[in-house]
Amino acid sequence: MPLKRCQRCGTICQDADIVCGICGSKIANTPTLKASIEDEMLRDRKEAERRSTPLNQTFTRASKRRLLRKLLTSISTLAIGSATVTYAIVYRSSLGPIYTGTSLPLF
Ligand SMILES: [Zn+2]
Repeated sequence: MPLKRCQRCGTICQDADIVCGICGSKIANTPTLKASIEDEMLRDRKEAERRSTPLNQTFTRASKRRLLRKLLTSISTLAIGSATVTYAIVYRSSLGPIYTGTSLPLF
């Protein structure tokens, strides 16, 4: 069965088809494929992989960076938080004797 590939979207169609079943562009004058449909599908998959690989890497790198930034933000928030708590404890303990001495409620 002769096949042909849509020149617009790359879909493999039958030679009898006049328009592409996916994008509707005219394929009547498109030359038929010499390779088998398995070969064409394999080539399609390889091409898709090659096209998507750099994009995937970029995406992974970007999401990693975003994750790292998120992590750093949470770490710094934690650091600031614990520093504030430490400061409060130190501050309160330094004032502690005054409060206990005058027997005022702490808070
Ligand atoms: Zn098409």
